[in-house]
Amino acid sequence: MSDFKQAIKWIKQGQKVRGKFYVSGDYVYLGNNDQIFYWDSKEGKGSWLQFTLTEIEATDWEIYEEESKMTEFKLFFYSQEEIKKQIEFCEGKHIQQVAYSSYHDALTQICFGCKKIRTSLKKEDLKK
Ligand SMILES: [Zn+2]
Repeated sequence: MSDFKQAIKWIKQGQKVRGKFYVSGDYVYLGNNDQIFYWDSKEGKGSWLQFTLTEIEATDWEIYEEESKMTEFKLFFYSQEEIKKQIEFCEGKHIQQVAYSSYHDALTQICFGCKKIRTSLKKEDLKK
């Protein structure tokens, strides 16, 4: 947990940093010409950032750690019906991505809030 001053120091060292209030996967980094960029993980691209008061006054800055985000996800097997219910439950609360495969007739939900991947794919299908 660090303040904005420390965050700027880290950015200058070439570290990626984030505030606790950022969406999971998002971070701030140093781009070309000393400009600071915001990486939007949902969009999959970075853009020039103007800091807001919230960011300047925040005291919960930390160094962004790439791997931890991904390894925290756990895979669960459910029926399609159960996944549909879960999608409704997460709607509006969590950021989620849903994919349907007509080939496998399988539904897969990735919820960034729950940090879970829920799929109706069979375990056997995944081993092929
Ligand atoms: Zn969720």
